[in-house]
Amino acid sequence: MEKEKLVNYAKLIVKTGVNLKPNQDALIVGSVEIYEFIRILVKELYEAGARKVFIDYTDDDISNFHYQYQKDEALKKVENFELAKQQYIVDNLPCRIYLDSEVPDENISFDIKKLGVYSKARKEAFKKYRDIYEYKIQWCIAGVPSKKWAKKLFPALNDEQAVEKLWEEILKASRCFDGDPFKNWELHDKNLVKHADFLNKLNLTRLEYKSKNGTDFKVWLSKNVNWEAGGEYTQDTKIYFQPNIPTEEVFTSPIAGKCEGVVVATKPLSLNNTLVENFKVYFKDGKVDKIEAEKGEEAFEELFKSDERSRMLGECALVPFSNPINNSGILFFSTLFDENACCHLALGDAFKNLIKGYETMSKEEIDSVGLNNSINHVDFMIGSKDLTIKGYDEENNEYLIFNNGEWAI
Ligand code: ZN
Repeated sequence: MEKEKLVNYAKLIVKTGVNLKPNQDALIVGSVEIYEFIRILVKELYEAGARKVFIDYTDDDISNFHYQYQKDEALKKVENFELAKQQYIVDNLPCRIYLDSEVPDENISFDIKKLGVYSKARKEAFKKYRDIYEYKIQWCIAGVPSKKWAKKLFPALNDEQAVEKLWEEILKASRCFDGDPFKNWELHDKNLVKHADFLNKLNLTRLEYKSKNGTDFKVWLSKNVNWEAGGEYTQDTKIYFQPNIPTEEVFTSPIAGKCEGVVVATKPLSLNNTLVENFKVYFKDGKVDKIEAEKGEEAFEELFKSDERSRMLGECALVPFSNPINNSGILFFSTLFDENACCHLALGDAFKNLIKGYETMSKEEIDSVGLNNSINHVDFMIGSKDLTIKGYDEENNEYLIFNNGEWAI
């Protein structure tokens, strides 16, 4: 890809994505495979006034060795320096950038349960820190092609061509290929926010989903929880940032434990390195009662074992069926892109910052709204070309929200 386009993309991540403030620190997480782009990004962060930039390089092969050779006790042990790093985040509030370049690896050399042991221990140990900084820092996740990811999507091309093609698709999906990326995002953000504002005015308390593929599902919402889209503001400092590049969704968090019916997934889900394909999720009394999958069902069992509350929903997101990602016709094998291709639900943790008046509420008041608490948050796609979604308010007034997969409002 031309250097100029990559520099523009890096600038988009720094300015529109995390919206770095002068003298702020930045933490980047990214694979060693994409070091060239990380170099460009680090320079742009400093150009924008970063005080210090830190990079956590990841490496799939080395991670595999850790899980293969470390005993459970070692995997479980959270070392002091890991906690010190969490404390650094609490103290300094650096913005965080996650560069997504991974594909689900189907030839892993270890027992998948070991990954669960490692991440559960960290999620639990980090929770008290995360609870403090979670809504206070700007963060952004954006895609960068690795050779492996590009070859998975475009196996007929050689390495170089495949990476070039994936760059093109990522930049198009991220509205950073044609025109002025900053203007593109300003307009796009306005349009998303318009839909969220409209939904907020309706004060919906229930959604009903129906599709010919078998989806027939009801979920209850709280009037005290907002719909949100596009950018977010940090708590206290009120910095506007875009957590996802790309983003196409308008979303809310439903009441935990209040939904019924069945949803049919319309795209595969990559969960803990396992690809779950052609699956249906059955809900009973607000919880996942049964999952039927052609492949990879066991990944869900591991998820529920790590936290039973991930049987309940934490997010409902609306995405029109026609948008740059879905129009590309590409399955990216990445939640960041695929979740923005169509409507989705997420099992697990809810977004407490969507609660009206969240900032001035006590923990008890927040808990009383009834949103889900979980150490997991797993999005899965249910949008289809003929999906109908109806919304109902407290007086049972009916509103057509989605018709044939598109916005009806
Ligand atoms: Zn979402």
